[in-house]
Order: sequence, then structure tokens, then C-alpha cells
Amino acid sequence: MAGTARIIPLTEATEPGFGVYVHWPFCAAKCPYCDFNSHVRHQQVDQDRFVAAFKAEMATTRGMSGPRTVTSIFLGGGTPSLMDPATVDAILQEIARLWHVPDGIEITMEANPSSVEATRFRGYRAAGVNRVSLGVQALNDRDLKWLGRLHDVDDALKAIGLAREIFPRMSFDLIYARPGQTADAWAAELRRAVDLAVDHLSLYQLTIEEGTPFFGLHKAGKIVVPDGEASAALYEATQAITAEIGMPAYEVSNHAIPGAESRHNLTYWRYGDYAGIGPGAHGRLSVGPDKIATATERHPETWLARVEEEGRGFVDCTMLEREEQADELLLMGLRLREGVDLARWQTLSGRELDPEREDFLIQQGFIERLGNSRLRCTPSGMLILDAVVADLAC
Ligand code: SF4
Repeated sequence: MAGTARIIPLTEATEPGFGVYVHWPFCAAKCPYCDFNSHVRHQQVDQDRFVAAFKAEMATTRGMSGPRTVTSIFLGGGTPSLMDPATVDAILQEIARLWHVPDGIEITMEANPSSVEATRFRGYRAAGVNRVSLGVQALNDRDLKWLGRLHDVDDALKAIGLAREIFPRMSFDLIYARPGQTADAWAAELRRAVDLAVDHLSLYQLTIEEGTPFFGLHKAGKIVVPDGEASAALYEATQAITAEIGMPAYEVSNHAIPGAESRHNLTYWRYGDYAGIGPGAHGRLSVGPDKIATATERHPETWLARVEEEGRGFVDCTMLEREEQADELLLMGLRLREGVDLARWQTLSGRELDPEREDFLIQQGFIERLGNSRLRCTPSGMLILDAVVADLAC
């Protein structure tokens, strides 16, 4: 897997692809806004034991998917940069043993600036990782502290520099619509970020998720986030600045120079197949005309015990009805600037879009047709995406 990677341009990629996602569920600390499946352990994690379990679950999944050509691999978390390079190497080798992995496919790893170190980064690169996604989140120390991050701006800048030096491709995440953040302050921070970026940025609005410490504080009025109008202004500033520098949105929160879109995430949004490996991972696998949804046990040690006993940590393995597939296709596809393939939606749903609903949404400026075959949200429609999807799917 190691060696000089040739990144396959998106236009050459077969659509929508088959991705393999592996979830590393541990973090050094839990951020107060985070509802991902991430856990803190104060004792050493037995990485060899996890590798053995990942291998067992991959073998089970390979039995379901059959032989496939992998178009992307994504090591997500949690904080995958807490994995030893040998762990990453073993995971990637096993994927290549079970499925066909062409040279140069996109292999992304998420990393946190607080766990970045040159030797480890070189080890991941040698194992085959060719794209890193850094959780930078803010470019000012006060907000990083408020977000509960373990790094400061200096750490983030060092991590970005190292990533640029070692990996052919690099993205980083920022969270905006923080309490008290003005459009001017965000614009200044974003302009600094685009100067540091290579080819891709993920820019998320802060959302207050149920079950997180921020949820309780928000409910008690101790956290006040920008309201609808203010967050729409922040979103519009984001679109304008990224479009101006040639890194427009290709998805609600993701921006890339054309050709540098995340191949792996496109597989989700284009409703392709993906194997979900590890605690709390989700998968979608086509078996003949059917599509199977898989989900695994979220708690890491419970997942581990289950895989050691049964060879897989599934808590769900359901055949999706065609109507459910149609809903998922619409939900995912309308996130994309390229929109959704209507013929595929019609084949799955067995019906046409309701012309009255469609006309109404077009008149309101929320959706538009791209020729006869595709439908997409306009920038205004993206702001109320859930409502648009709910309206069309009825
Ligand atoms: S580092 Fe990421 S995954 Fe871990 S707790 Fe923070 S936001 Fe969640």
C-alpha cells in the first residue's frame, strides 16, 4: 500500500463507489459539544486486540459484500491519530487483502492537532495514508478553549505545516456560529484559514446536540448561539469567501478546489456502498438489487467482546425497502451541489416527484433542475435542507 500515490481525479472515478470506513473510538478528552462515538480511556488501549477485532469484522463484511473494488478508505473517530502507525498499517493491509485496492485511491485519516507528531505522521504516510483531515475547529485561542480543545492556535499551525509537508492532500475543519461571533470576525478567521488550506476545507456551523454538556448549558441560557438570521449571514459569508478563492461548496459544509472533493464522503452523498467497521460504524451494502444497512455496537469494549465471540459487532443488519432507499438517496444527494439523480430516485421509489410540490419549491427559489435528469438545492434551499427533503419525500 505504501509508495508514491497517484490520486485518482474525481472525473475518472467510477460512481458512486465503494468505500471502507474504520472507526477508532477513543479521544484524549471529550469535547463538550461532541456527540460522536468517542470515549476517553485512562489506561492504555490494547491496539493489537482492536486490530484483531477489526480484521474479524472486515472478514464478515467481505463475506456480505463479495469481491469489490475499493474507491476510498477513511479512518475516522474519535481520534485515529492516537493509533500507532503499525495499527494503521495492519488495518490497511487487511483491507487490501480482502478487497481490491487500486494504487493511489484516496486514503484519509482524521487527526487532532494535539496528537500530531512528525514521526507518527511519516509512519501513517508510509502505511499508505495520502490525505489527512485535521480537527482545527478555530483559529483563536479563546474559542479553542471554550470548545474544550486540547490544542491552541500554535499547535494547529504546526500540525497544518506538517500535514502539508508529509501528505499529498490535506483538509481541516473549522466550527463557526460560535457564541458572540460576528460576521466580520468569522470572515477574518476564514480568510486566514483559506491562506493555510491546500485543496479542501470543512466548515461546520456549531450545533447544540442533545446529550452533550453544551445542550444543558444552552437550555439553561448559559450558551447563546447566533439566531437564524445571524447564522444565515455567517453561512452566506462562508459561501462568498470560499467561492471567491476558488474553493466553492460542493456539499452543505464542504469546500474544495474542483477535483479535490473528498472521494469517500462523495460515496456517502451519492448513496454508494460502504463497509462500516469498528464500534458505532454504519454501513450500506448492495446485495443484488437489495441494500443492507448495518450498524455496530457503539461501546468500544462491548463491541470488542461481541466481535471476539461472534466475528462481528452488528446490532443492526436490515434489508432496506426500496422506498427507504429512495428517501436516503434524496436526503444525501440534495446535500450536494451536483444534486441528485432523479432517474435513480424514480426507479427506487417507483413514482415521480409530486409536480405541485416541486413547482412550489422552484418558485420559492429553494430547488432547481439541472437539465431533465438532476435536481439540486439552491443556496437558499441549502439553508432549510431538512424541510426541502421532507417536503419532496412525502
Ligand atoms: S476530538 Fe473530535 S471526536 Fe473527540 S471528543 Fe472532540 S470533537 Fe469528539
